[in-house]
Amino acid sequence: MKLIKTIAEMQQFSKSASHHRQKIGVVPTMGYLHEGHMSLIDQAHKLADIVIVTIFVNPTQFGPNEDLAKYPRDFDRDWSLCEKRGVDAVFAPEPEEMYCSDRSTWVSEEKMSQGLCGQSRPTHFRGVTTVVAKLFNATLPDIAIFGQKDAQQAMVIKRMVRDLNLPVEVVIAPIVREADGLAMSSRNKYLSADDRTRALVISASLREAEAGIKTDGRKALCGLAESIAVKITAGGGRVDYIEVLDADNLESVSESTRCLLIAIAAYFGVTRLIDNALINLD
Ligand code: AMP
Repeated sequence: MKLIKTIAEMQQFSKSASHHRQKIGVVPTMGYLHEGHMSLIDQAHKLADIVIVTIFVNPTQFGPNEDLAKYPRDFDRDWSLCEKRGVDAVFAPEPEEMYCSDRSTWVSEEKMSQGLCGQSRPTHFRGVTTVVAKLFNATLPDIAIFGQKDAQQAMVIKRMVRDLNLPVEVVIAPIVREADGLAMSSRNKYLSADDRTRALVISASLREAEAGIKTDGRKALCGLAESIAVKITAGGGRVDYIEVLDADNLESVSESTRCLLIAIAAYFGVTRLIDNALINLD
């Protein structure tokens, strides 16, 4: 497995692979890898000949009062997990390699990024789209795999790729959960034992909502977000948002909605967790 630290070397590696007609799959991550990330790597292996994992804690997607400095990092562990999973190259640039000090260009999506996490993290998605575009330009992939765990991020990236005609196929892989239902996340490490137990109310509420919709159809949507909020608050969480939206466009649910996205962000202790469910109405 190759460790690549510079954009020039990364592009050279990918150009050479493409020259040999190898399909390149990239899995962008911020490191501190878990089985959720591993599932994206497995998916990349199925769809591509060469798998590149990028590990970069991207400063521009963190707000001034967010956890950039405290974001968990363990490169040696990440390296051995990637090696065991048969990754071909890890691209792990330093921030100075990715960002010139006098940079003045952003990539920003202006519709899908406005609600949900965009409300409480107003500059977050501009950082995400900018870094993903830059990572695509460095790794030159045919396919990029992202997780449904970050549902809004996946939609924003798909929209960016479409609107900018980027020659990358974006594939979204399902959420990987712990055995008890908690969605895997690098930030779970910050949960105290009690908060980790309390946080199970998030995935439990999503399961209950799904069961309710299966039984009662659209009738179950009435007051659904409010009732999830009550459960999460009663369970010791602090709700950032709970929204039930049309999964195709992140707009309000209408008669034409075929698939729902129930999206939740809530704090347990100081840790902000996100989770979601996609529910087919047909
Ligand atoms: P992160 O390192 O948290 O920025 O995540 C990197 C990629 O892994 C993103 O595409 C995430 O959506 C995806 N991811 C994170 N957690 C999970 C999970 N539990 N299941 C599936 N994908 C995930």
